[in-house]
This record gives sequence, structure tokens and C-alpha cells, in this order.
Amino acid sequence: MKLSHTLKHAMVTCLVSISFCASADAPVTRQILISNVAVYDGRGDTLKNGLNVLIEGNLIKKIGRGLIADESAVIIDGGGRTLMPGLHDMHTHVSIFREISEARQNMSPLAHGALAAARVEGMLMNGFTTIMDVGGPAAYLRPLIDEGVLVGPRIYSAEALISQTSGHGDFRARNDLHPNIDGGPTNWYERHTSCIADTPGEVTRCARENFRNGATHLKLMTSGGVSSRFDPLHSLQGSPAEVRAAVEAAKNWKTFVSVHAYTDEAVKMSLENGVKYILHAPQVTEETAKLMAKQGAYVNVNLEAVLGLEEELAAQMLSPESFRKWKSLVDAYPVAMRTMVKHKVKLVFGTDLLAPWNKSVAYDDSAARDLLQWVKFVSAADALRGITSRSGEVAQMTGPNNPYPDGPTGVIEQGAYADLLVIDGNPLEDISIMTDPDQNFRIIMKDGIVYKNTL
Ligand SMILES: [Zn+2]
Repeated sequence: MKLSHTLKHAMVTCLVSISFCASADAPVTRQILISNVAVYDGRGDTLKNGLNVLIEGNLIKKIGRGLIADESAVIIDGGGRTLMPGLHDMHTHVSIFREISEARQNMSPLAHGALAAARVEGMLMNGFTTIMDVGGPAAYLRPLIDEGVLVGPRIYSAEALISQTSGHGDFRARNDLHPNIDGGPTNWYERHTSCIADTPGEVTRCARENFRNGATHLKLMTSGGVSSRFDPLHSLQGSPAEVRAAVEAAKNWKTFVSVHAYTDEAVKMSLENGVKYILHAPQVTEETAKLMAKQGAYVNVNLEAVLGLEEELAAQMLSPESFRKWKSLVDAYPVAMRTMVKHKVKLVFGTDLLAPWNKSVAYDDSAARDLLQWVKFVSAADALRGITSRSGEVAQMTGPNNPYPDGPTGVIEQGAYADLLVIDGNPLEDISIMTDPDQNFRIIMKDGIVYKNTL
């Protein structure tokens, strides 16, 4: 049964207010007026005090002073608190758990799904109303969330990572046979998490298979990574022709390609062949940062995993080889950040959190901590743009594949999706309030539905 927006609205408001529950038989109002709030719109540098925000259905209908709502509208007094767009995490892997080789070999696909369901609920309750998954199955969750069966954010998904043999997405153990040479992956994890491709034709096939599985965009590996066993960080992965094959497949589908790229060489090769969204980029040089800016590419930086980790803890968590890779990034990332900021590269928030299965929900609670690293390099307003409006722009690049075509996300403006937070404090003055959603986020609304209200 498809739940109407109105019915979903009724069910969820039941959770937050018994008085709405009692009148569940009556027609449910579709207007909510949040009065007396200081609005951070997702784009600017300041709050605008004393405003009302009128929500009708799942969209923002009007923002202003002294707004008149329908007689039946629900009125919420914001009490002068900050109202801002819901948060975006544009680098997630909701169905990938550490250690990847262990999860790949021994964890049931059903357990993957159950854990992912718990994770997405936690993400929304941490204020993240939109996520972009860039590797592993995630599109399967979208209808479950959009139909109101599960609680979670809006989901954009790349589905299986596209990786070369011995690349960052080749998760096989030493003795595993090759999925393409030896007759196709027999491992569920292999099939849905990673697609091994070594020619432009194979890249095209992986891309099309991903679109068939509900991908809104693509994800390719063009350099080595920290966590994987058989791909040195310095390796350039995928050829220019293979990147172009992915870009062409994406263009034909009217969407874009994102890449995992650590080294300057990999970032440059990706940009030169049409990639629009770069992930990581801790080693970019001035020349490449200029190219990023010139092409208008978006760049996701996930700083906390590198700069927020104590060396001792990293040594415990990582294998000796991965630790060596990690350490090489610690000095590089701040330099790359300063270079990208200098050239006004469009930086986008995303965490890339990969946790052991039994700690994954707890790890997600720390997602906003990346903002504490951001403000070492950019203003609080710019960090907030990175986690709201600029992330929303990346989501818009999915074009006609966008599962949420009725308005933008990441902004508080007329016609935008009613995805918003009402919070205690002013994040422009103290960004750290964003790291304690349980305490500070008083209202969490997605699609016009109130999921939390402690006012
Ligand atoms: Zn990642």
C-alpha cells in the first residue's frame, strides 16, 4: 500500500503529539507554520531574525514576517531559535562495514540490509535529511524510506563501485578467483558492492548494470586507497579511456561520475576526462586545484578520518600497510585544503564513515564532527554551505534521474523541500553545536514530516 503524504504525516505527528493522534480520523492539516525563527538559508553568511516559515505538504510555501496560515495549520513557536536546512552527507556507504574482507566473506546480505536500515534511521535522527551513497547497495532502501516503511534520509546512490582489477574496489582475498575471468562473481557482496572492469567496454557494462539497479550517478576508483590490500596509494587506476567510458555512460543517462582519487595525478586524470565530483583529494597541487575551480568540479573532503584521528588509535585500527598510507595523508591534507580554499574550489561535506558492523550506528552519531575540521580552513558559513546548499547542488546534477524532482534540498527558500532543522544556538558563531544533535536539534523535519520535536 502506498502511503499518501497526508497519511504518513498523520502517523508521524502521532509520534510527536498525542493531540494530533486523537483526531486521526479528521482530515489532517497539510500546513505547518513555524513562527519566530532566525533563518539560516543555506547560502548566506548571516541569520535573518524574526521570520516565519510556512510549510505546505512537503514543500516550503513562504518565508516572511506575519505570515497567515490556514485555520487548520499546525503552529509551532520557534522561540527565536535557528531554523536551517537539513544536513547532507555526500559520501556514505550505508551497506559497507569494516573489515570489508570479513563482511564480504561472512556477513549475510540480510544482516547488511538490517544494519543499513538501522543506520539510515540514525542518520535522519542526527539531522541528515539527504545522503549520497558512493559505493555499495543503497537504492534498495529508497522506496522503503519514501513509502514510509523505514525512517531515513533521501538517498542518492551510485550502487556498485567501478574498480579495476587490484584496484580500490577489488575486495577479493588472495586466493579468490577473478570474477570476470573465472565466470562471474558468486559472492553476493562482490556483485552488489564492486564491479571489476579493466576495459572501457567493461566499465560501460558495469555502469549500465548499476543504472539498472537504481543508481542515480556513478562512482569510479582512480587511485589507491587506505583500507584496501592490493592497491598502493600511489597507483593510478582506470585508464583515461575507461574514465571517458564511465563519463559517456553517465552522460547518456543524463547524470555524472564521481571518483575516489587521493593522488594529484588521479584527480587531474579524472578532471581531464570529464569527472564532475571528486572524493578525498588530499594531495592536490595548485595546478590541479585551479583546474577543479575552472571546471566547476565539486570536491568532497572527509577530514576527520585523517586529521581527527590520534596516531596511536590509527595504529591500532589499521593494518601496518594501511597505517603507513594513512600517515602520508596527515601532512598532505592541510596543504591541499589551503590550496583548494585559495582557488575557491566548491567543497562538499561527506564523511566516508566505515565502521565495524556493531559500531556503525554509533560511528554515524559522530558524522557532523567533520565540521570541526572544516572550520580550521574555512568560515563557519562556508562549512555550513558545504553541508547544505552546495551538497544540494551535487544532488541536482543527477538530472532527470533525481528521485526528488519537486524542489531543491539544502536551502530554505520558497519551493524547496521542507527538509529542515530548528536548533538551539547559532552555528555561525559556534559550529560545535552541530555535533550534539540529541541535545541541540529540537525539530527535525524531512519532506514536511516532523520526525523529532522537543519544543
Ligand atoms: Zn568512500
